[in-house]
Amino acid sequence: MRGTRLDALVVGAGFSGLYALHRLRAVGLAARLVERGGGVGGTWYWNRYPGARCDIESVDYQFSFSPELLAEWQWTERYAAQPEILAYLEFAADRLDLYRDIELSTSVTSARYDEERGRWQVTTDRGDHDARFLVLAVGNLSTPKPPPFPGLERFAGEWYVTARWPEEPVDLRGKRVGVIGTGSTGIQVITVTAAVADELWVFQRTPNYSMPAHNGPLDPELQREVKRTFASRRHMAERAEAGVPFPAPEKAARDVGEEERRRMYEEGWARGGINSLSYAFTDFHSDEFANATGAEFTREKIRGIVRDADVAELLSPAHHIGTKRTCVDTGYYEVYNRPNVHLVDIRSAPIEEITPRGIRTAAAEHELDVIVFAIGFDAMTGPFLDIDLRGRGGVMLRERWADGPRTYLGLTVAAFPNLFLVTGPGSPGVLSNMVVSIEQHVDWLADCIASMRAGGLEVIEATPEAEEEWVAHVAELAGATLYPQAGSWYVGANVPGKPRVFMPYVGGCGRYRAECDEVARAGYRGFLLSRARQFTSG
Ligand code: FAD
Ligand code: NAP
Repeated sequence: MRGTRLDALVVGAGFSGLYALHRLRAVGLAARLVERGGGVGGTWYWNRYPGARCDIESVDYQFSFSPELLAEWQWTERYAAQPEILAYLEFAADRLDLYRDIELSTSVTSARYDEERGRWQVTTDRGDHDARFLVLAVGNLSTPKPPPFPGLERFAGEWYVTARWPEEPVDLRGKRVGVIGTGSTGIQVITVTAAVADELWVFQRTPNYSMPAHNGPLDPELQREVKRTFASRRHMAERAEAGVPFPAPEKAARDVGEEERRRMYEEGWARGGINSLSYAFTDFHSDEFANATGAEFTREKIRGIVRDADVAELLSPAHHIGTKRTCVDTGYYEVYNRPNVHLVDIRSAPIEEITPRGIRTAAAEHELDVIVFAIGFDAMTGPFLDIDLRGRGGVMLRERWADGPRTYLGLTVAAFPNLFLVTGPGSPGVLSNMVVSIEQHVDWLADCIASMRAGGLEVIEATPEAEEEWVAHVAELAGATLYPQAGSWYVGANVPGKPRVFMPYVGGCGRYRAECDEVARAGYRGFLLSRARQFTSG
């Protein structure tokens, strides 16, 4: 088994994979890309559910590396909807002439590192590849959780998983619809479906904080200004904590009086967006008091919007604000004032089964025509562990990560030479504007490969010591914040049996970039680099 001989194989055709293919070609590699979906786009190919749109402003949620793409593409809204982002990624793949090296409808099932030859033997469901480098641009929100409810096979109506929404339109008009899940996805589906469904039943286990998007058409003048100043805008985003171009906060919440705090939060709420409140204070994610002020401000807003006090109470989250990804909405809380929307508390009365007629909870049976599962993903590790990956000595990634993922820089894994992860565990990806993180990761790995080739080196591998230090560094940074306390997908709490390890790097995009750059400057410190099987320390 050898298959097509390549310098590099990229897996996944979302933002990460498309950019990786482009950059690897640019450094002179014979590279190809395989993608499970029938088209490019990744997240934006799969998540076609009603209401899907970005929570980072469109003008920042785009590639920065190509002046042509930037000049040609016009966004129509402050927060673009899924069809527009998908069209953008198709446009990018076309303009960059990527399609000729992309194999669609192809899944990588296993990959084995051949130590003798220093190459990856990759098996897909449509043939094999033999590649020097393997770049897993498989996403971290790309393995949807299957509905775990008994009886689903007997349900007489239609049912959909949001991240596998069909391409053909689904008509929810006049139907009795049940939505399970109130994360970012559920909130978007619920808001849009409320306006068309006959009756909408929302099955909520845990409420989330949601900030107003204040979405609307993008002012053409503003867009021209963004294009004109894009380089400095992106430069600022790359050095900011969350990959968005806002100045960092300067004060702690306690440094200002209550009135001033409220004024700042009101200003943030009026501006809208995912960082409406969190950019007010330096200690928002690390100090109980600071966080409580933002959480209570949001709960007050919910009480002010939702007329039924009991429903408002049920919608009010108790966890630290921002420690699960904050949602962004266009009229979410308002839908609970509609007579056709019903909130079902499945915390107190859990779902027991799906019946032929609908959903039965411990309290009642709800008759439904359609069930929508917005129950999230096996996030961050799922897409990597779905592949049977074997490194040096046949070691399995599933074994290495049995107690939680371990990486060096979120980009590499000890004992898995020439393997690169994009936005892997231990990277800041999921806590940031992902496009900013993706471009940084891909640039770093492409530069690394280019420098290896310039030096006649063929194999790079993280040392176990460097990996150990990075894992400890990631944990130490997280430990100084409130993040690990939430039962979020960041800690694997949403998947039964998954190790409870806080996975993202919380130090922010700017600090992470500096740390990665420093590793490269120091001759790829923490890596072993070799020509053949003879290692030289980096
Ligand atoms: P993906 O887009 O997930 O692409 C990975 C691809 O790899 C997929 O197409 C998948 O099919 C393919 N793949 C996986 N395994 C295999 C395999 N074994 N073989 C072959 N192919 C494989 N982030 C933000 O910063 N801002 C947002 O507004 C935002 N909105 C989001 C909305 C939704 C609904 C979701 C689910 C996520 C959102 N995210 C957002 C996160 C989003 O995933 C990233 O922004 C970005 O799109 C990820 O790009 P990617 O290329 O890394 O991964
Ligand atoms: P999620 O945040 O994990 O939310 C899943 C929801 O389903 C939660 O409310 C969860 O409740 C519920 N749930 C899961 N399993 C359940 C079960 N067995 N029974 C009952 N309820 C169950 O997933 P998501 O909403 O798909 O979002 C994932 C991430 O994707 C987001 O955090 C964000 O990063 C990204 N995203 C972004 C946008 C955007 O606005 N641009 C849109 C969608 C997604 P519990 O909390 O109680 O577990």
